[in-house]
Amino acid sequence: MNDMTSGTAVTVEHPLIQTLRRREPLLWLNPALSPAAGTLPRLPVGAAEIAATQALLARWAPALAALFPALAASGGRIESPLLRLDDPQAVLGHSPSGMVWLKCDHALPVAGSVKARGGIAEVLMHAEDLARAHGVFDPDDTLWPLRERARALFARQTVAVGSTGNLGLGIGTLAAALGFRAVVHMSAEAKAWKKARLRERGATVIEHTGDYAAAVAAGRAASHADPASYFVDDEDSLRLLLGYAAAAQPLARQLAQAGITVDAAHPLFVYLPCGVGSAPGGVGFGLKHVFGDHVHLFFAQPCATPSMLLRLAFPDRPRSVYEFGLDNRTQADGLAVPRASERVFGLMQHLVSGVFTVEDAALFYHLRRLDAATGLRIEPSAAAGFPGPRWLLESPAGREYLARHALTGRLAQATHLLWTTGGLLVPDDEFDGWLGRAG
Ligand SMILES: *Cc1c(COP(=O)(O)O)cnc(C)c1O
Repeated sequence: MNDMTSGTAVTVEHPLIQTLRRREPLLWLNPALSPAAGTLPRLPVGAAEIAATQALLARWAPALAALFPALAASGGRIESPLLRLDDPQAVLGHSPSGMVWLKCDHALPVAGSVKARGGIAEVLMHAEDLARAHGVFDPDDTLWPLRERARALFARQTVAVGSTGNLGLGIGTLAAALGFRAVVHMSAEAKAWKKARLRERGATVIEHTGDYAAAVAAGRAASHADPASYFVDDEDSLRLLLGYAAAAQPLARQLAQAGITVDAAHPLFVYLPCGVGSAPGGVGFGLKHVFGDHVHLFFAQPCATPSMLLRLAFPDRPRSVYEFGLDNRTQADGLAVPRASERVFGLMQHLVSGVFTVEDAALFYHLRRLDAATGLRIEPSAAAGFPGPRWLLESPAGREYLARHALTGRLAQATHLLWTTGGLLVPDDEFDGWLGRAG
C-alpha cells in the first residue's frame, strides 16, 4: 500500500503519477478537505433544491407506481434497502472495527443501478417543465402524466443521453415508458445485454466506437441540433446531482431505524464507486447536508481510470487519464470515464476525504465473496468501494487521516457504508462469467 504526498509539478516523475502509471492501487487523501459548514453555503445549490427534488419525487410517485409494476409495492418510491453485513470477514477478507453496512442501490427498481436516482429525477423535472409550458400539468390529478394530452405532448419530444450503459438504461427506460422518444448513445464499453434490454423497452440505441466522453459529445451535438430534443448531460447536470442528493434523507431515516447514530463519537465512512462523478458527488453532497463533518466520503476508481483522483490532486486544469499513459480499460464499465465532470469537481473539491484506486481483480474477488456470503449479485463497478475500510484502517495514509480527525479512538463505534451501485438487471450468464474470473 502506498502513502502519497503530492508535490507541485505535474510530470510523469511525480510520485503519485508514477504509482498511478504502475497501476498500483493507492489511497490519496484530499488536502483541500474543509469543514462542511464553511463549504456548503458557497455552493450553487443547497438544501432548498434538494428538498424540492424530494418533493418532485413524491409528486410523481403515484404515476410511477402506475407505470412500473416493480414500484407498486413501494407506492412509486424508487428506494433500496440498507443491509448489515453480518460477517464482514467473509466478504471483505478482514474484519474492520465498527459495523459494515451495504446501501443496496444495486437493487434499485426500474434502472437496476444508482442511476435510477439522478437519471429519473432529471427526466421527471424535464417532463414536468414541458407539461407546465404546454398547459397539461394538473396539480389536482396525480396521474396527469398518463393522460392522453400528456402522452401526445411527450410523443413529439426526444430525451437523449450518452452513457457507458447504466445511465442510458435508467433514462431510456423511464423516457420510453412516459412516451418520449428515447435515444441512448452508448460507448464502446457498454455491454451488449444493456443495449439489447434498452431496445426491448423501445429506446433507440446508437452505438459509438469511442469511449464514454466521445459518446456523450456525439449525443450532445445530435441532441442540440434538434429543438424537440432534451439532452441529459452526465458531464454537467445539476438536475442529475440533485436526484442523487435526494438519497440522503431516506438513508438518514433508514440509519435511524436501524439504531445507528451518526455524530462526532460515531463517524460514518461512506465508500462510493466513482466514474464521471455525478452519482458519488451528488450522493456525497446530499450526505454532507445531512451529516456535516460526521460523514467521511471516500471515492473508489479503477486503477486504469482514476479521473476524479487526478482532477482533485492536480486542480490547476482538467486532464484525462490518457495524458498519463493510462488506458481507461476496465471491467468496471460504469466507471470507465477518462475525464471527471467539472461540475462535480467544483462541488466535491472541499468535501471528499479521499480517493482510492482498485484493480479489476479485486472487483471480482469481492463480488464473488458477496454472492457466496449473502446471495447478493452486484456488477463489477459496484464492488469498487469494498477495499475502502482496509485502506482507511490499515494503510499509512488511512491512519494519518484517522489521527488527523481524532477518529482513531472512535472506530469501534464507526459505521462503514459500502454503496453497491448496480447489479439487479444483470443476466445470470453474465454474472456466472464474472464468477469464473474471480481467482
Ligand atoms: C455510473 C455508475 C457509477 C458511477 O457513477 P458516476 O456518476 O459515473 O460517477 C458507479 N457504479 C455503477 C454501477 C454505475 O453504473
